[in-house]
Formats: sequence, structure tokens, C-alpha cells
Amino acid sequence: MRPLLRLLALSALLLAAALQPARAERVEVVASFSILADLVAQVGGERVSVRALVGPDQDAHGFQPRPSDARLVGAATLVVANGLGFDNWVERLARSAGSRAPLVLAAQGIEALHAEEAHDHGHGHGHHDHGDLDPHAWQDVRNVVIYVRNITDALAAADPAGTQDYRANAERYTAELHALDAEIRAALATLPAERRKVVSSHDAFAYFDRAYGVRFLPARGVASTAEPSAQGIARLIRQVRAEKVPAVFLENVVDRRLVERIRAEGGARLGGTLYSDALSAAGGPAPTYVAMMRHNLATLLAGLAAD
Ligand SMILES: [Zn+2]
Repeated sequence: MRPLLRLLALSALLLAAALQPARAERVEVVASFSILADLVAQVGGERVSVRALVGPDQDAHGFQPRPSDARLVGAATLVVANGLGFDNWVERLARSAGSRAPLVLAAQGIEALHAEEAHDHGHGHGHHDHGDLDPHAWQDVRNVVIYVRNITDALAAADPAGTQDYRANAERYTAELHALDAEIRAALATLPAERRKVVSSHDAFAYFDRAYGVRFLPARGVASTAEPSAQGIARLIRQVRAEKVPAVFLENVVDRRLVERIRAEGGARLGGTLYSDALSAAGGPAPTYVAMMRHNLATLLAGLAAD
């Protein structure tokens, strides 16, 4: 073959290779926080590579995106956020990054609680307008079944060739979620009703409260960054004493000092650390959503058990 022809043939081969997606190429997904990233990984399996913008043990409330986050979002095929006002910054980030990737809100279709609905002991007034939604819907496992359905539909739309895989993974994982939901219900039913009340660092457990019948008295409002008033704290301490609340729990994403003060002055015990808005790192006790819910359940059971 003459050199020029050989060069042309080689160019054609290279062009064909460039147009053909590599077999191992994965769908790039960016999720706003670690819990969503795990759900995407459960459904996406081998076909998907997922990154969380707010990582393990980090607080998504008041998160300040970095330029590297904009680059990640700009390069993603699909962006997954919670919605319900938890991570509004994702939409702004996607716009500023010039992203044309679809943005799916995982909580779409759940029955949302209002921020002030479950608790009326007046913490952090002025930080939330009435009518704000409580974003922590993942604390009810049945809501996460809906999250998984939304994520599955979005992945199938972004990568139609993977539809069967996504549906099969979602079916397996949803069965696991139903079993987890039943496990939490059965375990908590063994506690007497008067011991099923606790203090948490921020108002992240209203959905857990509604689903599983443990009353959470939060030291801070729905946004962990909002500081409670002195009156609000004093009222909570009086309530802990009057109702003999057995235990007070720390959270992986919130400062511990306020809760320790309420524990000491309210005369309750320190029940351990709950994972509210973020997973633990891989080696920790809550590296996946299912592990997180099991850890929280075991921590609640131990902290609320009779002396
Ligand atoms: Zn929160």
C-alpha cells in the first residue's frame, strides 16, 4: 500500500475508534450528598460512576460549592439532588457550569412534612418561614423506595442501553429496603412507648418520628446552621426533665456542645452518635444508606434501653 493510502486508512480507523464509545465507559453521575450517591451506586452498579459534592460526615446545610464542584457538575451526564430546599445550590451550580445534564430531584413525589409541623417548641425563630418543607425525607425508608424509583427512571433515560440492569438492581435493592423498614419497626416496637423520646442535635428526624414512632426533640431547627434562642434551649431542658427523656444523641454533622449541655442540665444520658444528613467514610459505621439506618437503630435501642 502506498504511504498516502496507508495514512488515509489509518485515519479512518482512528476516526471510527473515536466515534465508538469505549466499552468500559461509565455514565458519570454527580449527586449533591453522600446518601444520594450511595443510592445511585446501588441502582447504577457497574455502569455508573458517581461522585458526591458533599462528602461523608459533611454538612450539606449552607454548603459553599468550590470551583472543582462546578467542574464536576459540568462534566456529568446526570445530576441528582434531594430537592425540598435541601440542596438548592445544585441548580445554581449546574447553571453556572453550563451543564446541559438533566437534574433529577430524588424526593419528587414523597409526602413532604412542613418544617415546623412536627415540633412546636420554638427553636431558631426567624430562620425559616412557615410553609418551608422539611428536606430530611430519607429518614423514612419508604420514602427512599420512591427516591430509588426516581433515580432508576433518570438513569434509564440517560443511558437507555442500561435500562434492564438498572431495573434489576432497583428491584433487588427495593426488596432490601422493605426488609429494612420492617426490621426497624419490629425492633422499636420492643421499647415501651414512654421511652421512645430523644433529643437530637438538629431537626433531621421528623420523618423517622412519623414513620417509626420515636419522638425527636431537636436542639436546632431543620437547618443545622441556625442557632437556637436561649429561651428555646431553656424550654427544651425543662421538657427533657419534665418528660424524663431518657437520652440525648449527637450527630455526625453537627457540633456536639449544645447537645451535651442539654444532656447535663436535663439529666438525660448521652446515647451516642446518629447519622442524620451524611454517611460515614468507608471504614466507619455507616458507609451506606442501609448501614446508616441499621447503625441509627442500634444506637437508639442501646441509648433508650431501661437502666
Ligand atoms: Zn439536616
